[in-house]
Amino acid sequence: MADGRHRSAQPTAKDYDATTLTHEFEQLMRTKRFNRLQEQSQPRSRTQSPAPFTMSSPSIPPPPSRAPPPPPSAGAPAASPKPSNSALRGLPVFPSPPQDPASLKFFNLLKGLSVTPTKYENPGLLDEALCVIPLDRLYSEAEEESQIMQAQAASVGGKPEWGYQDCVIRALLRWFKGSFFQFVNNPPCSKCHMPTIAQGMTPPTPDETARGASRVELYRCSDNSCGAHERFPRYSDVWQLLQSRRGRVGEWANCFSMFCRAVGARVRWVWNSEDYVWTEVYSEHQRRWVHVDACEGAWDQPRLYTEGWQRKISYCVAFSIDGATDVTRRYVRSFSRHGSPRTRAPEEVVLWSIHEIRRKRREGLKATDLRRLQKEDEREEKELRCYMASALAAEINNMLPRHLVGRPEDQKHPGARQGASTEWLAARGHGNTGPDRSPEGRLLSYGGLAGASTFIQSLGVADSLTKATAVALGDQPAPLESPAPHHAMHT
Ligand SMILES: [Zn+2]
Repeated sequence: MADGRHRSAQPTAKDYDATTLTHEFEQLMRTKRFNRLQEQSQPRSRTQSPAPFTMSSPSIPPPPSRAPPPPPSAGAPAASPKPSNSALRGLPVFPSPPQDPASLKFFNLLKGLSVTPTKYENPGLLDEALCVIPLDRLYSEAEEESQIMQAQAASVGGKPEWGYQDCVIRALLRWFKGSFFQFVNNPPCSKCHMPTIAQGMTPPTPDETARGASRVELYRCSDNSCGAHERFPRYSDVWQLLQSRRGRVGEWANCFSMFCRAVGARVRWVWNSEDYVWTEVYSEHQRRWVHVDACEGAWDQPRLYTEGWQRKISYCVAFSIDGATDVTRRYVRSFSRHGSPRTRAPEEVVLWSIHEIRRKRREGLKATDLRRLQKEDEREEKELRCYMASALAAEINNMLPRHLVGRPEDQKHPGARQGASTEWLAARGHGNTGPDRSPEGRLLSYGGLAGASTFIQSLGVADSLTKATAVALGDQPAPLESPAPHHAMHT
């Protein structure tokens, strides 16, 4: 049967021998990896031993974004000679402190950004926030939703997708976007309520500075007979945001993250180098960090920015009171399609910076807490690696002869192919399954992965393929019983 493989008119899954296929796949991956290593042979020598491969990723400076995500723009500031996604490509990276000015600048940037979520740890602030949050309403909505999910799960003998705590955050998200915070482009004239025209930036007044505005935008009333000027201080101070209740993405993410904290969630403030920010909340129920975008009212849609909006992204770094993590791989599943060159600093420096911030944030923690956090880091690393493995499998899938690849799955995942942004989002709504948002709750996601996965699963070689991919990535295969990406890799 090996003969007929590529020739016979209508091969069926049964025509394929799992072992052979796995072997071929491994070969393919080795070749691919080898080529990549060659391409990347940089002056700096990299050792091959499998070691502390942790993704790290931070990068750019713009303060918590102010504007809606920019269009996939051309330019990323060039710093190091060659764009390197090596860390994301699965090559071993060893942390190394910044040596050159650009790297140092990047580290300092990350260090500065990492302070943002520490501001939430203020009992007075959280109390104040709790005073404006309609807790009774949110709790009862959460209770109701959670019961519906339990009933649904019980009817099919499964586990509810989200837990009660998750439902509280979902209710908070709906209320925050629907009733509390206001999105502002040009603030209306406060004298006559007419639209205003941007006039550029203006220095903050002492009062504005005292309230945490480092930048102030100036607008002029569009009605010439009025001609009043309107100031729009960009507050990064969460106390102030409780009062002003308006802003753009930066203010939204900052205030919403703090609210999540106020209702007791573990929270991350996620900075993206393309000038966008959002939130991640830890789901105890799913044992993973969940993407939440207050501005978009989006829950667990990490592929929104790339596959939904067709943005190109280089770094996404999540900051919390417990440290920092390069979460780029959660948001950019296909680097060939949606990755932007990571040129802020060598990956070694990025990794070092992340470790350094973690170390600092975890100073003084008890040994048990440290261990717990470390385990959590490891579990997340596995989750993120699985995403990369999936993406590689997708690429491989695209190399397979067309007739071997299941078509119907592709159509079910429009996000996969060319970006069907709005339909993609609309079709998804919230509350689908799994980190990959695949309705089947399986690994199937973008690219031709869906088809490949179906094909592979029909052969019963999914596990081998996972291992093969891990080998190709230069990592130890993730233990199959790994709890992390429940839905992700293994059916
Ligand atoms: Zn006016």
